Amino acid sequence: MKKVETRVLPQTSPGTRRSLTIIRYGVSGSRPKAYLQAGLHADEAPGYPVLQALIEKLDEAAEQGAISGEIIVVPAANPIGLAQWRDEMLQGRFDFVNSVNFNRQHHDLIDQLIDTIGSELGEGAEENVAAVRRCSAEILANMQPEDEASTLKLLLLSLSHDADIVLDLHCDLEALMHLYIGTPLWPDAEDLAAQMGAEATLLAADSGGTPFDEANSRPWWVLAERFPDQPIPPACMAATVELRGLSDTDQELIDLDSSNLFCFLQRRGLISGTPGPQPTLINPATPLTGVDYVKAFSAGIIVYLKKLGDWIEEGETVARVINPLPEGEDQKLVEVKSRTAGLLFSRNVDRFARPGKIIAKIAGRKALSESEGTLLTL
Ligand SMILES: [Zn+2]
Repeated sequence: MKKVETRVLPQTSPGTRRSLTIIRYGVSGSRPKAYLQAGLHADEAPGYPVLQALIEKLDEAAEQGAISGEIIVVPAANPIGLAQWRDEMLQGRFDFVNSVNFNRQHHDLIDQLIDTIGSELGEGAEENVAAVRRCSAEILANMQPEDEASTLKLLLLSLSHDADIVLDLHCDLEALMHLYIGTPLWPDAEDLAAQMGAEATLLAADSGGTPFDEANSRPWWVLAERFPDQPIPPACMAATVELRGLSDTDQELIDLDSSNLFCFLQRRGLISGTPGPQPTLINPATPLTGVDYVKAFSAGIIVYLKKLGDWIEEGETVARVINPLPEGEDQKLVEVKSRTAGLLFSRNVDRFARPGKIIAKIAGRKALSESEGTLLTL
């Protein structure tokens, strides 16, 4: 029931080679299909031990014959980033080759799908879902990536594009548990947010930059808009799950998060057994356009006045930036204020400010920008 597969990436330097490990449970092609990965940003630690703990639970379930769909787990999704050590720090967010964020510019199939799917669509939603998946598979099979990162991105999307559920495990700097998910997937995905104990759920139909979750989920609602006469449901529930902050790898959190993922998969029919009652959602979802990326506008040292989980009023001071070498009285202490009312769910991990640096994130209900499309941080 459990299969472990290794796929080798193209060589980038003589004598070196990297590979991707893929773990498969259940019967290939059976439904529902779930895909989970950790470490696309290779320097985000919590996802790895959480998936390792989940794999142990899935091993047991597989031995008992309890897996009813197909589950694919990629325990370390970015072997390129995992090799990027510099000055005693693992730096796995941006590709050293070209500085591209490993969770941006994933292969966007939308234009090609629009060009090719038309004649295959009919009256039945189920048939249309199958047609879109067939078409995506064909597009992916014909792609010829140029470099190692592009090959990796193609491999990951080829494993996930036809899944019913895609969970991409990340973490923020210092943060509460939170999720990013497509607006059309809400409130259907409320069980995920509730089970994971997400304190913020941020919704966008197009956050810009094609992160991995949207490479999987967004084609569905764009196609539905483009072909309004044929029923096309949002058939891939893809989410970016932010497992709190960089240093949140305590055993109790790993146990909690892996159990919650297991319960979620049970409730979604991938594993037999009863997951217990669904927890209550902690906070309602809010638009990603409502997130105040609180920026410093002076140089200095950050002194936070607010903690994670605090409710912040519009115009309230979140932090002070202290300048030890002020050139005027007004530079000595600069207050950084919120532009919205909402939940403080993320703070920076270091304490140095420069003008333009994001030092906190607040989930507000009111949109701060008119348009989506450039809503994610670098
Ligand atoms: Zn990340």
